[in-house]
Amino acid sequence: MVVFLHGTSRVNEKGHLEIGGVDVVELAETYGTPLYIYDVALIRARARAFQEAFRRHGVRAQVAYASKAFSSIAMVQLAAEEGMSLDVVSGGELHTALVAGFPPERIHFHGNNKSREELAMALESGIGCIVVDNFYELELIEELAEASGRTVPILLRVTPGVEAHTHDYILTGQEDSKFGFDLHNGQADQAFRRVMSAKAFRLLGVHCHIGSQIFETAGFVLATQKVFAKLAEWNREHRFVPEVVNLGGGFGIRYTEEDDPIPVAMYVDCIVEEAKKQAREYELPLPEIWIEPGRSLVGDAGTTIYTIGSRKDVPNVRTYVAVDGGMSDNIRPALYGAKYEAMLANRMWGERTEVVSIAGKCCESGDMLIWDLALPEAKPGDYLAVFCTGAYGYSMANNYNRLPRPAVVFVENGDAQLVVKRETYDDLIQYDLPWKTKVKK
Ligand SMILES: *Cc1c(COP(=O)(O)O)cnc(C)c1O
Repeated sequence: MVVFLHGTSRVNEKGHLEIGGVDVVELAETYGTPLYIYDVALIRARARAFQEAFRRHGVRAQVAYASKAFSSIAMVQLAAEEGMSLDVVSGGELHTALVAGFPPERIHFHGNNKSREELAMALESGIGCIVVDNFYELELIEELAEASGRTVPILLRVTPGVEAHTHDYILTGQEDSKFGFDLHNGQADQAFRRVMSAKAFRLLGVHCHIGSQIFETAGFVLATQKVFAKLAEWNREHRFVPEVVNLGGGFGIRYTEEDDPIPVAMYVDCIVEEAKKQAREYELPLPEIWIEPGRSLVGDAGTTIYTIGSRKDVPNVRTYVAVDGGMSDNIRPALYGAKYEAMLANRMWGERTEVVSIAGKCCESGDMLIWDLALPEAKPGDYLAVFCTGAYGYSMANNYNRLPRPAVVFVENGDAQLVVKRETYDDLIQYDLPWKTKVKK
C-alpha cells in the first residue's frame, strides 16, 4: 500500500485517515465538506525546527511566518504562541494580525504597491518594520512620517537576480520582476542614498526573496553573497552598519513523490554559515538574520476533505471523478499546474485498483484537481483526502460559481477546534444590494 502521510497523520483501526488523533471521517460528518484540516503539532514542529536551527548557531534571528500562505485569527495566534514574527502583505492581513493580538513590533509589512492608507495603518499600529519595495513607497512613508513625527524602521527589498529553479509563475527573484530595487543597475544604491538623506527612516538593512518551492540551497547562498557584497559597499562608502539581513522564504515541501525537500534546518545552516563567512570577509558585525517561511510551515500540515459525487467515463480516454469543491478552494492546479497526492479517507487500506482524474465542480474545464490518480474504486459518498493543501489553499479560496468557502478545523492531541466557519448562502449575498428598477409593475 502506498499512502502519503505527514506529521501526526496515520490510518486508524477502521481504516480511516486520522490527523492529530482525530478521525477525519468524523470531522467530515461533523463539519461537512469540503473541509480544511490542519495538523497543529506539525506546524509547531516546523516552527521549532527553524528556530532551533538558528539557536544552534548562536545567532540572533527572527523566523517570520509569511501569513499570506494561510491567514486567519487562529493561525496568527498559533504563530504568536510559537514565538514567531509575522509577515503581512496587505491591510487585510495586518488587520487580521492586530485583531488576533499579534505583537505589532514583530510584524513586517511587505508588498509592491502598499497604499497610503495601508502604510498609515501600519505606522499607527507601531509595526516592527516596513519592507520598502519602490521609490513611490519611500515618498509615501516619508510624507506620513513627517506628518506624524515618526521615524520608520525599514528594510529595502532588493532583487539580487538569482534564479531559483521552480515554476516560472512563482519566481520573484529575477531581475525582470515587479518586486524590489535592482541590485545591479544602480536602483538599490539610489534608494539607499535617498533613505540615508531623509530623517524619516531608520534603515535596518536589506531584504530579498528569491522564489518559492525551492529545493536547493545554492540560490540562498548566492543571494546571501550578493546582499553582503552590496552591504559591504555601503559600509565602505557611507559607514552604514546593517542590523538585519532578511533572506526571505520559499523553502520547498513534498506535494508528491516527485518532490524531494531537504530538512528545514539545512536551509538555515547554509544561510547562517554563508552570512558568517561574508561578514568575516567584509569585516562587518554579523547582522540579525531573518527568514520568512510560509509554505514550509503550513503546507503539508493542511489536508482538504471532499465528498465524492458524480463520475464520467470517456471510453479509452479517462474517467472523471468529481468532488464537491475544486478551484474555488484550491486554485493552484489551475493556476500553476500544481500536483497533489490524494486517497480515500474512509478506505485508506483500499487497494488502488483504478486510475481516475479528480474534477472540481466549477464551470471551467480547467477546474481539475488531480490528473491520473490511482485510487480504490471511488463511489459517491466516499471521502477524498487531498494532502498538502495548507499553503495557498484557503488563502486563495474564492466564491466562483458562488460556492461558499469551506470551514477550517485545527486538530491536536485528539481535539478538534473549528477556527474558520463555513460560509453560508446568506454570507454570499450579504453585500449585494437590490437593483432599483425603473420598470413599473
Ligand atoms: C510569499 C513570500 C514568502 C513566503 O514564501 P513561501 O514559498 O510560502 O515560503 C516570504 N517572503 C516574501 C517576501 C514572500 O513574498
